[in-house]
Amino acid sequence: MASSIDQRFTIVGATPEQQAAIDTLAKQFLLSDERLGEIIKEFRRRMEEGLATDGKVLKMIPSYVTRRPLGTETGSYFAIDLGGTNLRVLKVTLDGHGGVTTEHQKFPLTEEAKNRTLFDFVAQCVDTFLDERDLRPSGQQPAISMGLTFSYPVQQTSINSGTLVQWTKGLNVPGCVGRDVVRLLQDALLRLGLRVKIVALVNDTVGTLLSAAYSDPAAQMGIIFGTGTNAAYYENVTNIAKWKGPNPSSGEMVLNMEWGAFDSDDFAFLPFTPHDIKLDRKSINPRKQAYEKMISGMYLGEIARNVILWLVDQRMLLDGRSSEVLNAMWSIDTSYLSAAVTDTSPDLSETRQVIEKTMDICNSTHVDRQIFKAIAILVGERSARLSAVGVVATLTKRADLMNKPITVGIDGSMYENYPSFDTILSETASHFIPQSQFRNIKFTLAKDGSGVGAAITAMLAATDDE
Ligand code: ADP
Ligand code: MG
Repeated sequence: MASSIDQRFTIVGATPEQQAAIDTLAKQFLLSDERLGEIIKEFRRRMEEGLATDGKVLKMIPSYVTRRPLGTETGSYFAIDLGGTNLRVLKVTLDGHGGVTTEHQKFPLTEEAKNRTLFDFVAQCVDTFLDERDLRPSGQQPAISMGLTFSYPVQQTSINSGTLVQWTKGLNVPGCVGRDVVRLLQDALLRLGLRVKIVALVNDTVGTLLSAAYSDPAAQMGIIFGTGTNAAYYENVTNIAKWKGPNPSSGEMVLNMEWGAFDSDDFAFLPFTPHDIKLDRKSINPRKQAYEKMISGMYLGEIARNVILWLVDQRMLLDGRSSEVLNAMWSIDTSYLSAAVTDTSPDLSETRQVIEKTMDICNSTHVDRQIFKAIAILVGERSARLSAVGVVATLTKRADLMNKPITVGIDGSMYENYPSFDTILSETASHFIPQSQFRNIKFTLAKDGSGVGAAITAMLAATDDE
């Protein structure tokens, strides 16, 4: 029997040609620590470049959030969380002891909303939420203040305004790039006659960080691993060379890194395979969001699909058969990869379900299923290890904080659900940070943090004395 260097990629019963193809994939997708170290170095260089000048690959956008919640604040605040897949409207109640309760309603983004009517759709959902709870203010009542989490790159111009830089993650609504997204939403709310005022605009990473900070004063960084990926962290204002605004009394500001764009200008450092290039070329944003496309939920299934078809076309998988489903772009959801990775049944029955039911291929062999699982492991592990690159680069940028407890709040379905994503990420990060500092770092799931954080920012905006 042919065998691979890494036992996990030895396919029992494979022909030598099949095993050689899997070994080729393993070589492409498995990244050595040495390779990751080089990417971390470049990531740091790109961070510095973005701190110095506007319009660089890592945009390092000042968020205008300069404070930290204390955890003792109380009251109820509202928020809208616009992600890549869902929209949520929330009422968040702060308990004064770092805890929150939320009441929320989830609305899947329709294709029409994603491509045309987004802001009217959002306004309609806000209306539904308030109406169903009898909260809609009448003419005499004061307007409801809401925070807006908006997870697309925005050049922030104040705590409640900012212009859209570009769409990402599959949204493509004409007439929005270059315009103030709060204005666009405020106008749509007005069209419905809704007495709602957007008082804070935050990126989802900034929201995640603030929600972690409400319960934990050591929170320093917020990350999203969901449809897309991005991160935010507290930076000393003196380190933000391009910042021309007033120096806040806290001396710090949250930066929205927009890290999904890393390496998009020259494609020089990330480990692009032909399968990544194919995805990029066919995406609605070619040559953009290169890092995001190797890491986040929207893309991993599609990378796997490209790999599968590459093998099918060489008759190395599924006896050379495909299906209408498998031929369609984006047809493999990243959650199918999760299912295969966790499948330890002797006949890989979960994986069989995915191949035969979801992908609509009649009959799969045990070899087919092992190969599918191997692909899922390779694509997922590369994502988790590359995620550690951004984490290490960002945390070591604030080396001044590393000798005290430091908390990283993380939200998103990839982090929550992809098997071992969290352990691979932290294990990989531990290889690049001295043990004495690494043990101070806590990675926590800031579930629904992006929305909760917008409500907290609305609270901070309401009590702002600066
Ligand atoms: P958003 O980015 O819109 O806030 P989420 O954090 O829920 O939304 O992320 C949605 C993404 O997570 C989708 O791309 C989906 O494919 C992926 N996803 C959902 N469930 C899983 C899972 N079990 N394993 C891996 N990825 C998943
Ligand atoms: Mg989200």
